[in-house]
Amino acid sequence: MSIPMVAIVGRPNVGKSTLFNRLVGERKAIEQKNPGVTRDRIYGHATWLNTEFLVVDTGGLTFSDTMELEQQIEKQARLAMEEATVIVFLVDGREGITALDEEIAALLHRQGRPVVLVANKIETKQADLEDFYRLGFGEAIPVSATHGLNIGDFLDQVVSLFPARDNTPKDDAETIRIAVVGRPNVGKSSFINALTGEERSIVSEIPGTTRDAVDTMLELNGKKFVFVDTAGIRKKSKVKEDIEYYSVLRALKAIDNADIALLLLDATEGVTEQDQKIAGYIQESGKAVIIALNKWDLLKELGREKAAVTLEENVRENLKFISFAPIVFTSKHEPRRLKKLFNLLEEVYGEYTKRISTSLLNHLLLDASKMNPLPASGKRKARIYYWTQIATKPPTFLLFVNDPTAIHFSYLRYLENRLREAFDFTGTPLRLTMRVRKRKE
Ligand code: GDP
Ligand code: GDP
Repeated sequence: MSIPMVAIVGRPNVGKSTLFNRLVGERKAIEQKNPGVTRDRIYGHATWLNTEFLVVDTGGLTFSDTMELEQQIEKQARLAMEEATVIVFLVDGREGITALDEEIAALLHRQGRPVVLVANKIETKQADLEDFYRLGFGEAIPVSATHGLNIGDFLDQVVSLFPARDNTPKDDAETIRIAVVGRPNVGKSSFINALTGEERSIVSEIPGTTRDAVDTMLELNGKKFVFVDTAGIRKKSKVKEDIEYYSVLRALKAIDNADIALLLLDATEGVTEQDQKIAGYIQESGKAVIIALNKWDLLKELGREKAAVTLEENVRENLKFISFAPIVFTSKHEPRRLKKLFNLLEEVYGEYTKRISTSLLNHLLLDASKMNPLPASGKRKARIYYWTQIATKPPTFLLFVNDPTAIHFSYLRYLENRLREAFDFTGTPLRLTMRVRKRKE
């Protein structure tokens, strides 16, 4: 079962992007860290009561300038309808219904996805929302996106409309799930073909649970490698904007269904803005990641093998936020390199699922705090009592502290670096969280 997707639909100025930011808001820290990367972002991850989902702000989907506003909105709504699990139809609770709202309502009535009608900009209790019944989606849920009012009730409603998720564990230790992602034409389908081509006899396609997702399975050295939704990669659309929309969405869903994201870049072009965006999504998803500089043969042809070093520097510089990702050079013409990639996939999967004992961790903590004591901030001395690993995929560490607000982000960064020095963790993100623990004297 793939991750649910919520599309926010509505005419301009009702507050779609404000609501979007409210839903994915907890990612603000990331946005600040990578200025530019998430600029004009319209896709994001959100969580409500342990349920994860993707959100799309359809207002950010823009098409050719010559398109009339009505056409633009119709097209946004149409794309949203095709892929969304639940559609959030946003209206302005203060302005009331406009002709454009009615047109959108008519469109939404002509399709089968569940619609949640939401009236935004309601900051007072005594709002009159009766009129919105006319749109035919029942009672409008009042919210204020800017003030964060009633967002919980609204999300309860949205999440209740998701189909029950399949909880059968796909965590078979012997199966490594990989999403091959990258911009159009970077060589994803050729790459999959080259990977699986050699072992064609043992390749099988597993029909996915969604309409047209098909996984490709390959067995090597007793390990199963599943390439998530590779059929989606092959599917091509004719309209440029649609291709972009579908390819981003498919990539996001595939990443969520995988353990490792294999991010393909074009070695002849280096890192582009779109690559940065995809990398940003991978980072948000908490999945392991490997960067492959593909079409390496073309650089060799040009006699530019030496470019490898500069290229790696370029990747590191522009994808700082996934600095833990190993970089490899690949080419569909060099199967030898692809073979080696399987070893790396196994290795990274091992790191992604690794557990470190609490005693080892606390030795490290002692050592780390001797070398670099927690700085005193304010009147209260910050203290970390101990930490323990509470999860894998990705490895997650819980620190018991006296006062989380007294421990600066940079100190967590420092501890993360020490973890990596001591235990490698190549290719995997790490999560550090804090919990208050009263000191017992
Ligand atoms: P979009 O075009 O639908 O994406 O709308 P925006 O998110 O850009 O919002 C349009 C305007 O409405 C902005 O000036 C927002 O600050 C404002 N706005 C959004 N949500 C609220 C709200 O809950 N209350 C009020 N009073 N204004 C809001
Ligand atoms: P996708 O859109 O990411 O699936 O990209 P494709 O697999 O369709 O490849 C796009 C183009 O790049 C095709 O013309 C491929 O033949 C070419 N291509 C893909 N991989 C390589 C490679 O490793 N080396 C070279 N020279 N060309 C490649």
